[in-house]
Amino acid sequence: MIRGSCLCGKVKFEISGEPSSLSYCHCSRCRKAAGIFSAVLIGKADDLRVTEGLDQIAKLLPGPDGKHERCFCKDCGTSLGDLVTGDIYVVAASALDDDPGIRPSIHIHTASKPDWYEISDDLKKFEGDYIPEN
Ligand SMILES: [Zn+2]
Ligand SMILES: [Zn+2]
Repeated sequence: MIRGSCLCGKVKFEISGEPSSLSYCHCSRCRKAAGIFSAVLIGKADDLRVTEGLDQIAKLLPGPDGKHERCFCKDCGTSLGDLVTGDIYVVAASALDDDPGIRPSIHIHTASKPDWYEISDDLKKFEGDYIPEN
C-alpha cells in the first residue's frame, strides 16, 4: 500500500497494486501547478482510493482533450495530480508519504520545459506524451 496526503492532511489517498510508471512531466500545467516540473505516478485507476477528504478536492482546468483535470486540496492548494483520468490514475508523486517502490524512468513533455532549466540526467526524454504499449 502506498499512502499519500496533502499538506494540511485533509485529503488522504491510498494506492494498492504496482504503479506502472513514474515520470518527470515538464508540461506547462505541471510547471505552473507544481513548481518546475511534476514527478507523476501512473497506474490502474481501480488501484487508487481517496480515503479522506474527497469533498476537499478542487478539480480545475481540464486539458485540451477534455481530460486530465488538475486536482488540488481546496484548503492548502497541494497539487494532487489528475487523480483518475479514464482507466488510469495520474498522481503527483510529491504528495506521496510512502516510497512507491519504482524510480523515475523518463522525462515527458520536454518541449514545454523552460529554456532556463536543463535536464541533467540520462533518462530518456520525450517531447510530448509517452503512451506505454499496454
Ligand atoms: Zn490540504
Ligand atoms: Zn504535466
